[in-house]
Amino acid sequence: MQRGALKWTFCNFQTFVWLLGGMFFFVGCQTPTNTPVDEVEVLEEIPDPPVMKYGFNLNDYEVVVKKIRRGDTFGSLLENHGIDYPEVYQVLTKIKNEVNVRKLQIGKPYTLLYSKDTIPTPKVFIYQPDISNYWVVQLRDSIYGQTISKPIKTIEQQASGTIYSSLYETMQAQNLNEALTYYLSDVYAWSIDFFRLQKGDRFKVIYTEKFVDDTISVGIDRIKAAYFEHNGQPLYAFEFESPKLPGMVDYFDDSAKNLRRAFLQAPVKFSRISSRYNLKRRIAYYGNRIRPHKGTDFAASVGTPIMATANGTVVKSSYTRGNGNYVTIQHNNTYSTQYLHMKKRKVRVGDFVQQGDVIGWVGMTGNTSGPHVCYRFWKRGRQVDPFKQKLPEAEPISNDLKQEYFAFIEPVKEALDCISFDLEPITFQSNNDNAITQN
Ligand SMILES: [Zn+2]
Repeated sequence: MQRGALKWTFCNFQTFVWLLGGMFFFVGCQTPTNTPVDEVEVLEEIPDPPVMKYGFNLNDYEVVVKKIRRGDTFGSLLENHGIDYPEVYQVLTKIKNEVNVRKLQIGKPYTLLYSKDTIPTPKVFIYQPDISNYWVVQLRDSIYGQTISKPIKTIEQQASGTIYSSLYETMQAQNLNEALTYYLSDVYAWSIDFFRLQKGDRFKVIYTEKFVDDTISVGIDRIKAAYFEHNGQPLYAFEFESPKLPGMVDYFDDSAKNLRRAFLQAPVKFSRISSRYNLKRRIAYYGNRIRPHKGTDFAASVGTPIMATANGTVVKSSYTRGNGNYVTIQHNNTYSTQYLHMKKRKVRVGDFVQQGDVIGWVGMTGNTSGPHVCYRFWKRGRQVDPFKQKLPEAEPISNDLKQEYFAFIEPVKEALDCISFDLEPITFQSNNDNAITQN
């Protein structure tokens, strides 16, 4: 009871802060209406607002943006833009310690700033190979070169959503980084069948994202905690680094169970299940007779990597007319798996493979009408539906660590519980120092 009451207060405090913010905003909005109207009549020539980029006001220049092509060098580019060789040489000598002009990558953009004179001349050369690094060379007047690495900030974010079509579309509709879909499905790869998400399934997530200039995302960093409601069943996930295994991060639920299982749900990422394990499958081609399908077919394009779903030893890597190129892995005395119709096999009999290792590529070899991998799953010699098995979980949290774990997740869970489902995604800078890193 007491815990519940505490949580309630915490959530309400947040709401209070939100309301407070809203009030300030409201007051702020009122101010402009008080401005006397006649002040507007004073007309002055107002210069365009400066467009600052790379430390220059782009309004002062003619801006030319192009891409590096095969064979381009810094020197040849300048010569192409009307700077003759003696001048190029002068520039190169002056900047050689500040800028490495030899590393130009094909396809990367460069910018030339031309003077706005009657005869425009190039003044500045800027090369930006990636979002957080660029170099600038001032070509005329006082020649100089400068390499700039913009700091990358890691910012903690929260998001939530309800799924009506696909997880991907839900993320898009919320203006969230699309990669979040992959990160989230990775966290739950073992526990939720992402091929069978239901309308109304919903999620909340606390994650960190990397930014330059505070607004340009350079990617998701990691998921700290998540909540996924699938078929009405809630499933928490908390990132936890075991002090016994520094650097080894796993996701555990609110009762300290590992979300990871000994088996992956699928041998290929982001494919579509085209046919499930079905003992009563009828096929028109065979006169509508029952032809049980004891495998699960994952449709994916030719060349998609096929992964071992669990650690094990390759006991077959071979070809038959029906199976095409196929691989069988023995995981232990209980389980073995098989992967069919490969374009090419990557492993040999006797190889030890780990969960997620690539063992071959999707193809159309053997008896198949389209590119897919037929995944077969045996339990004690009997072929079963892997989606119906209660598969063993990976290393749980040891008893002596549980107390520490529960203490660690308590505030995180509280924060997660406070996220509402209809909330617009919000961004805030974490007070937590180690959540913000500067490179
Ligand atoms: Zn099949």
